[in-house]
Amino acid sequence: MKKAKGKVVSVNESLVGVKIIEGAVINGEVAYIVIENDKRLKSEVIDVKPEKMVYLQVFEDTGWMKVGDLVEFTGLPLAVKLGPGILGSVTDGLQNPLYELAKKEWFLERGQEVEPLDNTVKWHFTPSVKKGAIVTRGDILGAVPEKLFQHKIFVPFSLQGDYTVKHIVTEGNYTIDEDIAVVEDANGTTIKLKMAFDWPVKKPMPFHERSVPVEPMPTGIRILDALFPIAYGGTACNPGPFGAGKTVLQHSLARHSQADVVIIAACGERAGEAVEVFKDFPELIDPRTGKSLMDRTFIVGNTSSMPVAAREASVYMATTVGEYYRKQGLDVLILADSTSRWAQALRETSGRKEEIPGPEAFPMYISTLISAFYDRAGVDILEDGNIGSLSIIGTVSPAGGNFDEPVTQATLLSTGAFWGLSRALSDARKYPAIDRIDSKSKYPSLLREEEVSFLIELLRDGKTIASNIILMGEKGITDEAYILYQKAELLDAVFLQQNSFNDVDGVTSPDRLRLMFDVVREIIETPLAIKGKEAIRSHFNFARQAYIDWNSMSIDDSEFEKQKFQILNLVKKRAYAKENV
Ligand code: ADP
Ligand code: MG
Repeated sequence: MKKAKGKVVSVNESLVGVKIIEGAVINGEVAYIVIENDKRLKSEVIDVKPEKMVYLQVFEDTGWMKVGDLVEFTGLPLAVKLGPGILGSVTDGLQNPLYELAKKEWFLERGQEVEPLDNTVKWHFTPSVKKGAIVTRGDILGAVPEKLFQHKIFVPFSLQGDYTVKHIVTEGNYTIDEDIAVVEDANGTTIKLKMAFDWPVKKPMPFHERSVPVEPMPTGIRILDALFPIAYGGTACNPGPFGAGKTVLQHSLARHSQADVVIIAACGERAGEAVEVFKDFPELIDPRTGKSLMDRTFIVGNTSSMPVAAREASVYMATTVGEYYRKQGLDVLILADSTSRWAQALRETSGRKEEIPGPEAFPMYISTLISAFYDRAGVDILEDGNIGSLSIIGTVSPAGGNFDEPVTQATLLSTGAFWGLSRALSDARKYPAIDRIDSKSKYPSLLREEEVSFLIELLRDGKTIASNIILMGEKGITDEAYILYQKAELLDAVFLQQNSFNDVDGVTSPDRLRLMFDVVREIIETPLAIKGKEAIRSHFNFARQAYIDWNSMSIDDSEFEKQKFQILNLVKKRAYAKENV
């Protein structure tokens, strides 16, 4: 079929109106606007109108575009190239690699497109099918080593029906541009296959057998693993006002979550924030391997010089790459910071299209798009019987920290865990500033259900007594209530608070979480024979400091056990046996 052509008739920032002069156009296809005779600006059809009019959103600066410029349609949707070489790379939302370019400048020339995956690298391919085998989409043709993993080479997921393998290369080194197999369908049509294939970013890759996320994914963050966990294949919404700790939390999750592959979709809040991510991450050491964290990381993001439409592309590309590595049988984690930036891009485009706006001028369909995004997370029991998972954690940055706005609400409804950051906690430097009372999760904790209830109840009691203290002063409450209040405060200070910047305290393994919980529970459940607010306060100050010192001691430290007994002894000295009551 002949590709369609058109002419630019209107330019409204990144929204460009085009009159079709030849052929037919469908929604979602990619088009190039040819400016200055040879520069081709990538764009996507987002609206097809009557009278041969279409609207494009352009992924580049439209500054030099003129009415009358030629538009070439491709007939193909916006796609990502999937194959070995994605891990360790940093790209923009159109899969232009930025890592290499980063050594020079942090942006591309206008109209410049770069090969998404390095096609000069020779990958060592080992076939796992023989000539004559019958294969269908998702079957494995062979594998190549990619950093820490064996990267499976699939029959592309776009193929329908059964195919016979007519030819497969022998073990050896091949680039992603070389053919590695030839397959034939029932009608005798042959298809050449390479190690990489394209997949449209807005189309979810089909699950083989979707399963419910039930296994907790340890994050190393105590308040999450104990109280508001995320499961493999689960989703979490992390809203918070500016400066409350969203980005610090995301970075901590990137380094310490027990996922195989981490994908960072960086749509920074501040100008240059994404660039910081691009620069900082490649220097981080993976605590698990001692090598670069980038070996199992893929970063996609937008620099502030890129137009809003590219933010949307970043989110979709991250998701598609995530689905692809889930198909590899890996546990993948997408960290999207901040999804509000994506929503704002949608709002701008919708405004230019003069659509009927919903609440706060966001488009009416915003909640549908948000829910479709999070719905791409999940557990898949794969074609080969292995299990892969894709988890998504998105930050939301509502203006003024007001969680009632549409993006926070839509995200809240689409996700299984809610980690609301509180300005009051971050002002008090109680990090992570995740609201202890209002946050929630539907996934199972690393602790037992009864233990979680125990913690929640103590926090609730503590909060009630704290408000009584504000109303009536310390004198207005009993010593007993004051002790309970101090216990809740202790729990917060030594167990829920965690210093991300301390090497030891910054990450807590599931084993250590268990140990810490048991110790803190023992302290809390030991009745105390202390009289007077001053004495009670001083006792808890001691206990807190001893416990905090313990938190920054490595388990391998010779003092570790000793410190634990010191904490418990301190408490037991003040305890009284039941018969003395
Ligand atoms: P946001 O992304 O929500 O705007 P940031 O993540 O950039 O906020 O956090 C702002 C500041 O708060 C950080 O620079 C850091 O000083 C402090 N902070 C946040 N979380 C923690 C933490 N877990 N431990 C210690 N300091 C933190
Ligand atoms: Mg931030």
